[in-house]
Amino acid sequence: MVKKAEDIFNFSETADDCVKCGKCIPVCTIHGVNADEVTSPRGFIDLLGAYKRGHLELDTTAKDIFESCFLCTNCVDACPKALPVDMIIEQVRSDIAQKFGIAWYKRAFFMLLRHRWMNDLAFKLGWTFQSCGFKIKAEIDSMNSRFSLPILKTDRLLPSLRKTSFLNSHKENIDNGGKRKVAVFIGCLANYNYVDIGNSLLEILEALEIDAFLAKSQKCCSAPAYFTGDFDTVDANAKFNIRYFEEFMGDVEAIIVPEATCSAMLKIDYEHFFHDQPEWKARAKVVKDKIFMATEWLQHHTHLETLLASKKKNTKIVTYHDPCHARKMQGVHQEPRNLISQNYKIVEMSDPNVCCGFGGVTMQSEKYHFAKAAGVPKAAMIEKTGAEIVSAECSACRMQINASMNYADVKTVFKNPIELIAEALRA
Ligand code: SF4
Ligand code: SF4
Repeated sequence: MVKKAEDIFNFSETADDCVKCGKCIPVCTIHGVNADEVTSPRGFIDLLGAYKRGHLELDTTAKDIFESCFLCTNCVDACPKALPVDMIIEQVRSDIAQKFGIAWYKRAFFMLLRHRWMNDLAFKLGWTFQSCGFKIKAEIDSMNSRFSLPILKTDRLLPSLRKTSFLNSHKENIDNGGKRKVAVFIGCLANYNYVDIGNSLLEILEALEIDAFLAKSQKCCSAPAYFTGDFDTVDANAKFNIRYFEEFMGDVEAIIVPEATCSAMLKIDYEHFFHDQPEWKARAKVVKDKIFMATEWLQHHTHLETLLASKKKNTKIVTYHDPCHARKMQGVHQEPRNLISQNYKIVEMSDPNVCCGFGGVTMQSEKYHFAKAAGVPKAAMIEKTGAEIVSAECSACRMQINASMNYADVKTVFKNPIELIAEALRA
């Protein structure tokens, strides 16, 4: 029987359901880099059960443990009972945030995510001054710090900023003379950093004669805040986005998202988040049916695959990484491969489903040593394919994989599948 969210968030019931079989342990990302029972899915569940029963205090040690999960959902996939470790960890992080507060720099970041105008201004200022503090590698939309700081060393690769965001570079309504229309939800990294993803998506929609509505008032899906336990930001942004989508979703066939994490947040996590707010849960459920990952919708609802098959073959070899939020959460993995393989040769890496090790804001800051260690096997398996391009429909994976390849001196270039498809259409 499928469990209701109310039961899932009853940690002690989930703890009682765990049969301690250990099938989740070999696939666990944090256990792979910190082989301790307490940082394993089974260990997290046990501790959360004890916490719920009042046998475990939420002290700094418990905080440290619960913040070390990558939320990759590998364990949910492997567990015979599909116990939702990721969801209960997300929930306890809200208790952690309430008890310990949220670090000032994360609060500042989440404040930006709540206000697009502030975000636009901050990123514009960031673009103006980025070359003072960073060495820019424009060809891969990345940069290295010029100074070694406690949480930012000079060898760490980060996404660089573009002068104008994707949403501010185009009209809101793009008429491609078609009888069909979709809305685009772009996500923050593709809006401010990897802007060629959105530009490529518009090229594809133009080639398919599908009109585009850029939904310029969209706010961050709030995934970074959700994974950090800042539920006030999630509540504000999720309600805003749902209300906004309701205004226009009757006029479009779909809301397409070229980003796995944003798509999973809008489509799946909003409903979970609102498990104790029935009205909003119902509204999230209605909106959900309109949301698709971009390759998913393009593959199943257009003739893009046939159109690509009529174009030239490209000699570049591509290897495809499966973002956790695409394959495991939304079942999207064949669609990008079907589209890319029309024009490129795909060579699979040894385990495309292994988490890249991004893990969220805390993992990318205070716990970066874990993210760095988790990225090592992914960079090695990419190098082994000999591919010139590694692709994934997720900019969080892009940021992490770019950094991991940079540490390992792997020269493979990262492209979103949408960029590869647009390139094939241009040829
Ligand atoms: S979500 Fe990932 S890192 Fe967290 S317990 Fe499960 S497998 Fe381990
Ligand atoms: S696979 Fe599931 S049931 Fe088995 S130990 Fe892990 S969480 Fe418990």
